[in-house]
Amino acid sequence: MTEQTNILEVKDFSVNYGYGEASVRAVSDVSFTLGTSRVLGVAGESGSGKSTLVYGLTRLLRAPGVISSGDVILNIPGPDGVRSFDMLAATEEEIRSVRWTNISIVLQSALSALNPLRRIGREFDEVFRTHDKSLSKDDRKARAIELLAMVGLDANRLDRFPHELSGGQRQRVMIAMALALRPELVIMDEPTTALDVVTQREIVSELYELRKQLGFAMIFITHDLSLLVELADEIMVMYAGHIVERAVATELYNAPRHPYTLGLMNSFPPLHGQREVMTGIPGSPPDLKALPTGCTFSPRCPYAMDICREKVPPQLPLDNGTRLVACWLHEPSVGAAVPVELSKKFVSNAGGAQ
Ligand code: SF4
Repeated sequence: MTEQTNILEVKDFSVNYGYGEASVRAVSDVSFTLGTSRVLGVAGESGSGKSTLVYGLTRLLRAPGVISSGDVILNIPGPDGVRSFDMLAATEEEIRSVRWTNISIVLQSALSALNPLRRIGREFDEVFRTHDKSLSKDDRKARAIELLAMVGLDANRLDRFPHELSGGQRQRVMIAMALALRPELVIMDEPTTALDVVTQREIVSELYELRKQLGFAMIFITHDLSLLVELADEIMVMYAGHIVERAVATELYNAPRHPYTLGLMNSFPPLHGQREVMTGIPGSPPDLKALPTGCTFSPRCPYAMDICREKVPPQLPLDNGTRLVACWLHEPSVGAAVPVELSKKFVSNAGGAQ
C-alpha cells in the first residue's frame, strides 16, 4: 500500500437515534478520508456526535442508534493488492473478521472493556487464540509480553486482574491489545479522558512513537484540542453532529476559523507554554430534539449575525481547499467583516452580536 492510499473513506454518513417522528439526527452527512499511517483528530464537546460517529463507522452502534445513510469503505492491503471492504454492507461475521485484525478500537473506559474476573494475560491470550491459530501458547505469551513492553508495562502485569492496575496502566493494556494483530487502523475514543494530565501526556507521546514505529493510521477522539495538536495530522471539529471545521492540525490550532473551534481552544490549557485563564464556551450544547434554525451554534456564538439564525451555513473550502469551515463569517457574499483570524479571546456574548 502506498503512502497516498486512503485506509478509510467515509461519505455522507449519518446516524439517527430513535425511530419515526421521535428520531433525532446525531451525526449528519459526515464525509472524510483518512490516509494510510495518518492521524485524524476528532474534537467536540459531549453530545457533539464524535463517539456516535466512530461507533457507527465500526458497526458497534447499538439500538436505538441507526445508521441512516452513507458509505464507509475500509481499504485493506494484502498480498494481492488492496481489497475494498464495505463496512456498512458487511455481515456481522465479516465485520468480526476485520475487527482487531484490520481495525481496532480503544474505548474511553478500560475498566468496562476489560473483564474484571480475568487476568490480563488471559485477555491477550484470547485475542491471539481467536484470530491467529498458528501461534503456540509460548508464542502467544511472548507476543503479549512484547506488546506490554511497547506501552511501557512489565511482563508481570500479565498475572494481574484489572483492578490491580492503575487507570493509566489499564488504558495502556487496552492500547497494547488494540495493536496486538497489527491493524492498519486504530480508533481511540477519548482513551485518556479519565486520567490525570501527566499520564495523559505520557500516553499521547507513547502513541506518537508507536504510530511512527508501526505505521498504523489512527482516529483519536477527544474534547481537548491541545492534546490533539500533539498527535494529529488533521483535526475535524464536530458540533451537533456536523463537521464545522476541518484543517491541518497545526493550522487549525494556530488560526481557528470557526468560532466553536476557538471556544474549544479556550476551554483547555495548552500542554506547553504559559498558564492561562480558560474562558470556555458560553451556554450548553443544543438539544438535538430542538435544534435552533440556521447555524446550530448561533445561540452561543459571539459573532452571530441575522443570517446565522435563518440559514444553515454551507461548508466553505478555505486556504486553497485544505480547510473546510461551516460558518457564514467566511462567505464574502454575506458581507460580513470576515475575520481572517478570530480574536484569540472568546468573549461571552451569548445571544449574538452584529
Ligand atoms: Fe454560526 Fe454565524 Fe457563529 Fe459562524 S458566525 S458560527 S455561522 S453563528
